[in-house]
Amino acid sequence: MIDIVYKYIAVQEKTVGKPAFQVPEMQFVRAGLAICQNDTKDPYLVEEWIDGRFVKYIHNRSGRPRQFDDAKYDLQARFLSFCQHVQFVKTDKAAYVSDFQGGLELLTDPQIISDPELNINAIFGDGNINYGALAKDHECNEFCDFYHVPKEIFGSKEPFKTTIPPAPRSITPTGKDELPPGLDLLPKKSVHNPTAKVSKMQGPSHCTIDLTTVDDDDLYT
Ligand SMILES: [Zn+2]
Repeated sequence: MIDIVYKYIAVQEKTVGKPAFQVPEMQFVRAGLAICQNDTKDPYLVEEWIDGRFVKYIHNRSGRPRQFDDAKYDLQARFLSFCQHVQFVKTDKAAYVSDFQGGLELLTDPQIISDPELNINAIFGDGNINYGALAKDHECNEFCDFYHVPKEIFGSKEPFKTTIPPAPRSITPTGKDELPPGLDLLPKKSVHNPTAKVSKMQGPSHCTIDLTTVDDDDLYT
């Protein structure tokens, strides 16, 4: 889904040129399954180590990025908010990525948010909620404006200059309660709660916090 954004940028820059501001280079960590060579063959999900400060950029209950005093982190947060807008457009509102968190370059443990009408919520786990948060909360920033991301997708009447044909919906169930080809073998709710033990390589600040009772305004405080 991040790749969609960089491809969109490359296409748009043929028309609008390069921006005066920096475009962050961000990607998700590489991950793999490690099997201990002991009697019980304990499985561990391992992923790249994320150096430096670990932050939450966008919570999956909100379409607003966190604001940072540190300009570097604030730029990354706005860029990731722009990523959501592009993903929303390029999937024809089928899905976008949220729960962005990690360092300045590497991200981990995202949440795919899918349109409830597609009936594929189970593929992406219990965090696949609040689909409407993006349309409700998103505020376009310098990235959205420079690259002319269509604002009509959120119902805005503000015109944009570049005509971009809508992409076909990239996640299409074959019927109610059916999963896309290849994913029907996955047990429901297995993606977000794998049977493998959580990585022991995660940083000390990378822990699970129950935010279900936190108000949106308090998400980033
Ligand atoms: Zn936007």
